[in-house]
Amino acid sequence: MDFSIPAATIELLQRVREFIQVELIPLEREFSGRPFLEILPELMAKRELVKQLGLWLPQIPREYGGVGLGFLDYAMVCEQLARSPYGNFVFNAQAPDAGNMEILIEFGSEEQQRRWLRPLLDGKIRSCFSMTEPDRPGSNPVWMDTTAVRDGDSYVINGLKWFTSSADGAAFAVVMAVTNPSAPPHERASQLIVPTDTPGFNLLRNISCMGHAGEDWESHAEIRYEDCRVPIENLLGEEGAGFRIAQARLGPGRIHHCMRWIGISERCFELMCQRAAERNISENDKLASKQTIQNWIADSRAEIDAARLLVLHAAWKIDRDGAKQARVEISTIKFFVAEVMMKVIDRAIQVHGALGITDDTILATYYRNERAARIYDGPDEVHRSVVARHILKNYQ
Ligand SMILES: Cc1cc2nc3c(=O)[nH]c(=O)nc-3n(C[C@H](O)[C@H](O)[C@H](O)COP(=O)(O)OP(=O)(O)OC[C@H]3O[C@@H](n4cnc5c(N)ncnc54)[C@H](O)[C@@H]3O)c2cc1C
Repeated sequence: MDFSIPAATIELLQRVREFIQVELIPLEREFSGRPFLEILPELMAKRELVKQLGLWLPQIPREYGGVGLGFLDYAMVCEQLARSPYGNFVFNAQAPDAGNMEILIEFGSEEQQRRWLRPLLDGKIRSCFSMTEPDRPGSNPVWMDTTAVRDGDSYVINGLKWFTSSADGAAFAVVMAVTNPSAPPHERASQLIVPTDTPGFNLLRNISCMGHAGEDWESHAEIRYEDCRVPIENLLGEEGAGFRIAQARLGPGRIHHCMRWIGISERCFELMCQRAAERNISENDKLASKQTIQNWIADSRAEIDAARLLVLHAAWKIDRDGAKQARVEISTIKFFVAEVMMKVIDRAIQVHGALGITDDTILATYYRNERAARIYDGPDEVHRSVVARHILKNYQ
């Protein structure tokens, strides 16, 4: 593995880092606790700045108006973007839109790209991805109740979904639904583009999570699809290709999530060190003089560095051999990095004492928002099982 980073990438990372440092981090106190729609105009103004700097859509190929970064370079950019909860949003590289852009580029028809991808790339609309159901295990997504039944030139969708992130205010949803119940499990479902103003697209609520229901991009919706009819032209890719498309979206995307989590870990690590160095616990004694605090700092440093190396190695393997061959590496980083991040956030909060649980620092926001990392994109336990089964093959 080559550990050197090209000079052009270092320069780019510095530009992104500076933008986040100068334009977004100072707004954190002012944004704290305010509804998303209230701060949105300011975020939209920052998006214009990002465009002027030529940093808009870092993850998207040049021919689609993006920066055209390679997979590894973009992974490193993700770390920098995550230093603010709004970094990805301001660069138009936020979930779930970034994933939908990717699949529309890869599988969308010309008309689907014109109607849905273009405005998404321009930042004029938002989207969501509607797969998980309250009554079926998201960890076993081949088992789902939502159906899309062909009726003439339409599909008619029925089912209950939840945790459709950012559905509130989105222009369309990409919906996973069973189109052929008698096909082999991985060929049963398809993905359909459903405009959110379609009759039968019923957003029931933004689900309150850890005390916050949120709104707009910062929310997770429960949606009932009730005789929701879309034209057959809204099928994404082929009928029955739903899981293949979902895999194309999730596999490499995990690298980006993990690098985002490393960015969050670094930000919290810095806050922890600053606080330890500044906080007096007696007239002549700083918190940093205590061995427990030193242990947390040293352990966090080692764990974040180890996590980053694991992720970059997995990214390198995807680049060299493809996502399928890197499946075990991808599963390893998913659970390892999520846990490192949670440990570092928790230690940083502890070092801040009562201040750590207030909204006067960003720590509490990260603690609340990022706990989900161990659940989405496949619960950690499922990924551990993939890794262990692969290892155990050598012993059978
Ligand atoms: C913040 C957040 C955002 C999300 N956004 C979206 C979105 O935009 N679109 C969407 O479709 N979904 C989204 N999800 C849903 C997410 O994909 C699911 O929550 C996830 O797949 C887990 O499914 P589940 O919640 O049904 O848990 P279950 O499948 O019921 O699993 C519950 C627990 O059981 C254990 N478990 C499950 N399987 C195994 C196993 N094989 N071995 C050992 N233990 C196991 C794990 O501990 C797991 O956490 C989001 C979830 C969260 C929390």
